[in-house]
Formats: sequence, structure tokens, C-alpha cells
Amino acid sequence: MASEKMIQYGSKRSVIRELFEYGNQRAREVGRENVFDYSLGNPAVPAPAAVQKTAIELLSSDDLMAVHGYTSAQGDAATRQAVADHLNATYGTAFTADNFYMTCGAAASLTITLKALTESPEDEVLINAPFFPEYLLFVENGGAKPVVVPAHEPDFQVNFEALAERINVHTRAVIINSPNNPSGVVYSEETIEKLADLLRTKSKEIGHSIFLISDEPYREIVFDGVTVPYVTKYYDNTIVCYSYSKSLSLPGERIGWILVPDAVTESRTVYAAVCGAGRALGFVCAPSLFQKVIAKCAGETSDLSFYRTNRDLIYNGLKKIGYECAEPSGAFYLFIRSLEPDANAFSEHAKRYNLLLVPSDDFGCTGYVRAAYCVKTDMIERSMTAFRKLYDDYRS
Ligand code: PLP
Repeated sequence: MASEKMIQYGSKRSVIRELFEYGNQRAREVGRENVFDYSLGNPAVPAPAAVQKTAIELLSSDDLMAVHGYTSAQGDAATRQAVADHLNATYGTAFTADNFYMTCGAAASLTITLKALTESPEDEVLINAPFFPEYLLFVENGGAKPVVVPAHEPDFQVNFEALAERINVHTRAVIINSPNNPSGVVYSEETIEKLADLLRTKSKEIGHSIFLISDEPYREIVFDGVTVPYVTKYYDNTIVCYSYSKSLSLPGERIGWILVPDAVTESRTVYAAVCGAGRALGFVCAPSLFQKVIAKCAGETSDLSFYRTNRDLIYNGLKKIGYECAEPSGAFYLFIRSLEPDANAFSEHAKRYNLLLVPSDDFGCTGYVRAAYCVKTDMIERSMTAFRKLYDDYRS
């Protein structure tokens, strides 16, 4: 018999996937142009020209063995150095190639990191709501226990009181994600400073270092001049999990990295654990072609102004109708307050107008729906009538 736990994970489709499949079915029935599918976080802008050009050059090389062959387990040294150079130039840090482990995207970065940092079923990893639902699986799969920290409403910064209460001798790590999926909120510098202070104090109190895992696939997608503090500069025991899925619109290519800075306590041992976890999970040698693309395109991004256009359209449009939303400063999600207490019922009701909005319960927070606005801009324009009708149903 197969593993009960894995059967459970594999049999239950996520609410997001359910909605996406429902959207495809509705599109066959009423036409794609009449379905307003805000379910999936799949980038709707192409990768930048530099990525295409570099990939074509690499694939036209006379030495295809070098292009497609295995790299070292932790990734190609030139790629890791290019990533370090880009971060150092952008954030004034001093990383080297040895601080990086190349991975198959943020999901792999997180599963490797969690496997590396946790061991006993008593180990606890704190997850700040609202959160990417896969964190729960990733923590459990690493062998530890996920502990949810309730959301801080309405600003969706860190809920410090609840976080402090949940830290104990079993706490190994805290996961943060800013810019955030699903709220679109960016943690302020004040939040990061306060978090760093709390984790330093608590680490002393419990007698071991608490790791801060910063999941950053949306780092570059921010609006209105908002800056995303570089977390390693505020708290030494920070491990960064990064991915090019969103910044370069390469979700299907599975490429990203883990950063273990020298300032981490026993940094080289932690890095060795990351290498060990990568090996144990079968995540050695991230996709070779795309490692080499990253070596040339580490500082590039897709045309991110597209998301700002969409953000303005949906946020201003919904506010004008009367909806309440979390302040969307980054990523490409809008967190809309449900017009009835049960967000599942609200999401179900929205389907009457072919509006597909993800209820917030699986993000660890009740009473909201998430709209992923990484969609064609004209779909947002066309969906406003549906949003208006939905609103009127609750107000009349
Ligand atoms: N973390 C967050 C917050 C995400 O939103 C996602 C994907 O949407 C991931 C991690 C996984 O990213 P990747 O596709 O790079 O594995």
C-alpha cells in the first residue's frame, strides 16, 4: 500500500486548481471571453527578450554537451557568482558563489531548506497568515510541525503578539513571504526591524538560533516606489528562497536558488545541510540550460509595468464599486473582503457571474477572496460589470 499521507496530498485537488478546471469547463460552455478567471498565479507577460536570445545562443552552441550536461550538485559556479554579483550591486551585500544553491524554483528552495533545518516531529515552523498553502505540506514533509500565526488585519503586516506567543523551545524557523501571496502586501522596514528584534530576543531566551526563511518569488514586483528591505541585512540567521518563476516569467522552467549568507550561525554547516537535503530529495543540478541563461540574465526582469497597469485597473475599479481590499503594493494578487462571512459561499456566489475568486480559508485566514490579476488587461476591464452585479446582490 502507498503512503497514506501522500495519497491524501495527491487526491485532494487544491481549491485554486478546482476553480481553474471549473473555469475551463465554463469557457467551453459560454465562451472564454465570458469567463473572468482570477484563480491562478501564472504570469501573463513573456520572459524578456534577453532570456530568449541567450537560450537560442546556448542551444546553437557547438558544445551542446556543456549546455545540457550535469553541473555540480549545488549549481554552476559561474551562475552562482552572477547571482551574487547582481545582489551585491543591487543591495550592497557581499555574497559569493559559495553562499548559493541552485534549485528547481521556490517550491524546491523551500522543501530543501525545511528538510535541512528541521529534524524531529517536535520541531515547529511558524507560518504567518495569510500564506501560500503549500507551506503546510512542505513543513510536514520536512518532518516538522507547521504552526500558523493568525493574520494581522487589516494591514496584513506581522501579527507580533501572536507570533511571540507561539515561539517556544521547539521553534526552529519562521517563514515570511513579502511581497505576499495572497494579500499583495509588502512588509515595511519597520516590520522587518521589529521581527529581527523579536527573533534575536527569543533566540536568546530559548537557547538556540531561530532561522528566518524569507520566501521571495515576488521581490521585484512592487508598485508606487515601495521598497522591499533585503532581509539578510536586518537579521543574520536569514535563509532566502528565491525563484525566477515570476520576475522572469519562467514558472515552467523550474529555476531558482537558496541563499545561506556567511552571517548565519555556523553558516558552512547549514550550507552543508542544504546540500545534503538537496541530495536526499533528488534536487541536485538544477536545470542546466536555465542555469546558464541565469548566468547572463540575473539582473533582468519581464515587463513588470504590466502588473501595475492591472493593479490600478482592478483596485481602483473595485474600490469605486464599494469593495474593501488590502493595500496592494506588490506581487499580482488582490485580497478582497468577502461580502458575506463565509468566503467559500461568496466565491460560490461569484461563479453566477463567471467570476472565479479563490476563497481565503486555505491561505490560513477567513473572510476574503483572492484575485490573481496576472491576466490579460482587457479581461479586467470586461469583468467590472460582473463585479458590480455581485456587489449589488449583497447591497440590495
Ligand atoms: N512561494 C510563493 C509565495 C508562491 O506564490 C509560489 C508560487 O506561486 C511559490 C512559492 C512556488 O514558486 P515556484 O513556481 O518557483 O516553485
